[in-house]
Amino acid sequence: MAKEVLECSFCGRKKPETNLLIAGINAHICDRCIEQAHGIVLEELRQSGSASLSAELELKRPKEIRAFLDQYVIGQDQTKKVLSVAVYNHYKRLMQKQDDEGVEIEKSNILMVGQTGTGKTLVAKTIARMLNVPLTIVDATVLTEAGYVGEDVESILTRLLQAADYDVKKAEKGIVFIDEIDKIARKSDNPSITRDVSGEGVQQALLKLLEGTVVNVPPKGGRKHPDQKFIEVNTQDILFIAGGAFDGIDRVISKRLNRQAVGYSTSRNADNIDNDNLLQYIIPKDVKDFGLIPEIIGRLPVLTHMDPLDRETLRAILTEPKNALIKQYRKLFAMDEVELSVSDDALDYIVDKALEYKLGARGLRSLCEAILNEAMYEIPGSDEKELHIDKEYVEHHLNKTLLKRLKAAS
Ligand code: ADP
Repeated sequence: MAKEVLECSFCGRKKPETNLLIAGINAHICDRCIEQAHGIVLEELRQSGSASLSAELELKRPKEIRAFLDQYVIGQDQTKKVLSVAVYNHYKRLMQKQDDEGVEIEKSNILMVGQTGTGKTLVAKTIARMLNVPLTIVDATVLTEAGYVGEDVESILTRLLQAADYDVKKAEKGIVFIDEIDKIARKSDNPSITRDVSGEGVQQALLKLLEGTVVNVPPKGGRKHPDQKFIEVNTQDILFIAGGAFDGIDRVISKRLNRQAVGYSTSRNADNIDNDNLLQYIIPKDVKDFGLIPEIIGRLPVLTHMDPLDRETLRAILTEPKNALIKQYRKLFAMDEVELSVSDDALDYIVDKALEYKLGARGLRSLCEAILNEAMYEIPGSDEKELHIDKEYVEHHLNKTLLKRLKAAS
């Protein structure tokens, strides 16, 4: 009897028709069927991946989002609350079924107004970390209208794709943080600027992204798409968070508040306005008066402000967040088996100097670097096992380095 020709148990191809036929216990499978099956597995994984994303998100109620933010961001109560709700609603929106009684939940893109260094980027980064979605941070000042020198608005999506490792589905649920959005405000109040290259035109281009549209994105060297000219990305489900310092907007707010206080139409009178933190009274009209076009403001419906960082907050930033500066230095020294301790009055002194020279939270890091640089240079390889930093140590090292320069500059 002629020997039976082996065949693939899935597609029935005979062995000579295949490149490879792999034997199992009671069956065989050919190379083509393996590839097909692999494709199915990947597709399933992708789908269950987004399903698990929904499941995970369902568990994150606003209070849990807030608790997560609390681990990394000090203060900024109102922003945390507003953002927790906005992010929760955003992901509810992603989970909504298409045919739900015709009620369509609109996107809740966010506009954060606050001085530089108050934690806007940190908030956006923390949210992306919690949701485990890709995040890209872009600086609005480098964006220009197509055709001008600079980056087209579409480049935002190229970066988001890169952050998502070119997984389009993942990128389409990502977060884009647009920093310095105030810098593309219309400059019509400024007579010296005649041509508005980076202003309104960019706002118009951004508007399309915020509204939700399909954009042809040049992949720029993506590993998986080396020859592809464009990848289609739908921005409908991307959460946009815009941030800016809006320098001078306090004057706009103050003017409006005073006008209101003069009239009788408001319960808020000039006496109980907190002039040190006018941003807390911000309304969309102020942003419009500053120069953002109304359409953009409409597409960033969640407006929130960042409080200026006071002494107490700066002090807490040094030690409390999960990756607080002092914790980071302690870890660095621990890697050399050195135990670092910092006294309370040393911490207070650092905060005093940050306030005195208006260095903000970012300045805390340069202060710490200046204080600890010498120790970080000398100690590795030495016999020291402990380093205690007190106020005198801080004073001595700061006066030798950073403060000398700061004093000279002021
Ligand atoms: P912004 O985007 O508002 O300019 P960042 O988020 O970049 O400010 O903040 C700069 C740095 O200051 C951050 O890396 C962070 O370490 C620290 N920081 C600022 N504000 C806070 C805060 N509220 N809580 C904790 N750290 C903060």
